Amino acid sequence: MINGVAISFVEFEKYFIGRVRSVIDKYKVKGKIAMALSGGKDSAAAFHVLRRLGFDIIPFYIDLNIPSYSEECKKYAMELAEEMGYSLAIVKLADYGIDISKAKKKCSVCGTARRYLMNKFAFENECDYVATGHNLSDAITFAFNNLASVNILNFRGMKPVLEGKKDVRMVARFKPLYYLTDMDCMEYVRIHNIPYCTKTCPYSKNAPTLEIKEWIHDMERKRHGIMLNFAKSFEKLEDAMKKEGEIKTCKICGYPSYGNVCKFCKLRMKYGKI
Ligand code: SF4
Ligand code: ZN
Repeated sequence: MINGVAISFVEFEKYFIGRVRSVIDKYKVKGKIAMALSGGKDSAAAFHVLRRLGFDIIPFYIDLNIPSYSEECKKYAMELAEEMGYSLAIVKLADYGIDISKAKKKCSVCGTARRYLMNKFAFENECDYVATGHNLSDAITFAFNNLASVNILNFRGMKPVLEGKKDVRMVARFKPLYYLTDMDCMEYVRIHNIPYCTKTCPYSKNAPTLEIKEWIHDMERKRHGIMLNFAKSFEKLEDAMKKEGEIKTCKICGYPSYGNVCKFCKLRMKYGKI
């Protein structure tokens, strides 16, 4: 099913792989990729399709230690990696002394920690990119959430590929599913029988983005193609905007930061492990 129209398996495959290829070709993506598996359908689909396209991939899982959720997600990520002939590297947030369950703003701590650990893993493993399962639905939701919070300076990341900066240990970020919706990814994992975790994070009811995502999907149902047009507009907006402040390195850990100390090290200080 694309845009409410039933299509054949072959047509769907052509459409799905074509959209992934359009990101790869536009941004000339090549080299070694650290694939962040969350256990969910999107990163599973991204991993599956990138392997089909012949990329050199290191799959890894960030264990956020979220009760009754992280263990289950890890199980699926491991199953998928094994099925595809890889061993899964595990990065544990607990090793850094951070406990999301104790945080007030759980999703914000989770996001900062994930971004930091993904970049660190990719850097330490000499990867050219860190790939995630973010899709078009996520990208548009993120952008509208920023607009709704009058946070338009936070538009960095509104592109399928964010360039890296070796001098500040920042690895390029790659979102192969950027031009594909939640529904497309669901269809891909279904037709390829890819295992994924359906459990939702116990903190997801705190996530402010769920309603925005529903609203966007509703608009897409009424006006097919509007999400892709939004994404293209947001990409252009990002080009036209200059993020305030240069990226430098954190004086504690040496990874990229907009201030003297990065957000992750600030979390570690707060949790008493530095
Ligand atoms: Fe992290 Fe919040 Fe998503 Fe849970 S809902 S995985 S805490 S961002
Ligand atoms: Zn730091």
